[in-house]
Formats: sequence, C-alpha cells, structure tokens
Amino acid sequence: RFITFEGIDGAGKSTHIDSVARHLRDRGADLVQTREPGGTPLAESLRELFLHRNMDGLTEALLVFAARRDHVRAVIAPALAQGRTVLCDRFTDASFAYQGGGRGMDEAVLTTLEGWVQEGREPDLTFWFDVDPAIAAARRAQAREADRLEQLDLDFFARVRGAYARRAAQAPQRIVRIDAARTIDGVADQIRAELERRGW
Ligand code: C5P
Repeated sequence: RFITFEGIDGAGKSTHIDSVARHLRDRGADLVQTREPGGTPLAESLRELFLHRNMDGLTEALLVFAARRDHVRAVIAPALAQGRTVLCDRFTDASFAYQGGGRGMDEAVLTTLEGWVQEGREPDLTFWFDVDPAIAAARRAQAREADRLEQLDLDFFARVRGAYARRAAQAPQRIVRIDAARTIDGVADQIRAELERRGW
C-alpha cells in the first residue's frame, strides 16, 4: 500500500504521519516512512538545492520530478514490490499544487513528467490536509520555518490550495480531504476513521 500526505505548508500533516505510522505498525504493517522532495541521498541533495536556490517554475518542476524518479526507483517501487506499506510526506499532487497552481506551470507538462517518472504507479490513498492559508501562516510563524519558500504570500498558498482542490475533485476515490483547521485530536480521529473504514 502506498499512502501519501499533502497540504499547504503549516497544515499540520507532518504531525499526523507519525501517528498514522504508529496506528499501522500496531496492526502489524511493515512500514517505510519517507518524504519528498527527498527520500534517497541523491533526492535529499536535490532537495537542498530546491529549498535554497532561486529558480524558475520549470527548473523547479524538473528538479522535483528528478528527485521523485530516484525516490520511486530506489525506495518506493521496491518496498511496494515486497508488500510493504509506504507512507510518503508529499508526492506528485504537491507538484500539481506548488509547481502548477503556485508557480503557474502548465498542467500538461506536469502530466507528462508524472507519466514518465511514475510509470503508472499511483498512491492508493492520499490524505489532503486542507486549511485556510491564513491559519496555516499563523502556524508557520509559530514553528519559525526557514527556507526560501517561507516568504511566499497568502495569494500563493490560496493558488496552491485551489490546485489541491481541483486534484481532489479529479480523484475523489484516492484523495480524502481532512479538515486541518480542527484540533490535533480532531484531525487524528478523522484520519483513524478513514483507515478503519478501509480495514487498515
Ligand atoms: O513538506 P515540506 O515542508 O518538507 O516541504 C518543503 C518545502 O518545499 C515546503 O515549503 C513546500 O511547500 C515546498 N515544496 C514545493 N513543491 C513541491 C514539494 C514541496 O514547493 N513539489
């Protein structure tokens, strides 16, 4: 099984990945927990460039998909082939949201890259942590995140959120919207209910 976690910065997804991991391990799942951009030594190096160098939207998309290619090939595909469960903090939906919605990249280009890099492989389930950009900004300010993307404005995150919403509408079976404005316990309950509904 391949489960991904998505949402704008400050939506709180990272907090919940660990609790999903605990829940699934308690039920005997053999887990691989990973993240994007990153997840392999090469992809983590690309992540450093991505976070700290300025670049245009196409360069950003190519870099993120290059990192994803290495990650899929070296970590995700082998784990799934062994019957393991993969939890990934962000995946291709983030490219449609950030490089597409946020940076204005043509969706057709992203769809082409998606096809090349994933070779038909898709997450089985995606939790989309949806929250108002102003609430997310307040959470980020508390957490004091520091990379070049930290200064992006509310308009940028509103576009990212809109692109996530379009993606979710296109894949309603796969993408589950989580109301991330709720308390940590409220969000955790919603996630657990979704997992249990699937018998996971
Ligand atoms: O999720 P995480 O905090 O690790 O992401 C690191 C940064 O990269 C965040 O600011 C996120 O918004 C950004 N990002 C992006 N495009 C992606 C994936 C992540 O702009 N495809």
